[in-house]
Amino acid sequence: MNETEYLIYLQKEIHTVVAATVDDNGLPVTCAIDMMDADENGLYFLTARGKGFYSRLKKSGYMALTGMKGEDTMSCVAVSVRGRVKELGGALLPRLFEKNPYMLEIYPTTESQRALTVFRLYAGMGEWFDLSKKPIERFSFSFGQAKAKQEEYFITDACTHCRTCESVCPQGCIDFTFKPAVIRQEHCLHCGRCIEVCPQGAVIREESK
Ligand code: SF4
Ligand code: SF4
Repeated sequence: MNETEYLIYLQKEIHTVVAATVDDNGLPVTCAIDMMDADENGLYFLTARGKGFYSRLKKSGYMALTGMKGEDTMSCVAVSVRGRVKELGGALLPRLFEKNPYMLEIYPTTESQRALTVFRLYAGMGEWFDLSKKPIERFSFSFGQAKAKQEEYFITDACTHCRTCESVCPQGCIDFTFKPAVIRQEHCLHCGRCIEVCPQGAVIREESK
């Protein structure tokens, strides 16, 4: 999937997410919100201007969110996104209400809808995490002007191919057909066990390029 398809999956297949902002003391605050639309420009959601959520969005201009789909942990797909948000005002409200008609049960009249305003999460990074796959699948993506920067585990030239890390990797995602061995990023859990056991200090954790 490309970055737009990840956003569309989040909006259509998951829809309700837990969003995190920070309060005036820099402490995290979460709330559940619905993703009303998604396209190549980002994710769209709405809130009422009277809510604390609105004030926190305006103050920081930043938000993180996670949505999950699945019946239980081992059938779960989770999509996490974080990035900059911009208030778009009320112009998009008719379109978002048309796409999400259940909103009329919460804000039934045009007058009541005047409390609402639309935001777009327009530049950020995300991660797709699928526990239903064996081994697990993980992909990072970015959208807008943001560059995807993700901490990942890599094996350096110091690797002597001793295979000590093989038995401790919970996903079996270290490939020994290469020298030095290679970590399959799309299956890595980021547990860090390989760093702990490598006798050569050959495993490093750093931002992907
Ligand atoms: S434990 Fe370290 S040196 Fe041994 S194979 Fe794994 S990465 Fe290479
Ligand atoms: S971080 Fe964990 S899952 Fe990833 S390669 Fe190392 S041991 Fe395996």
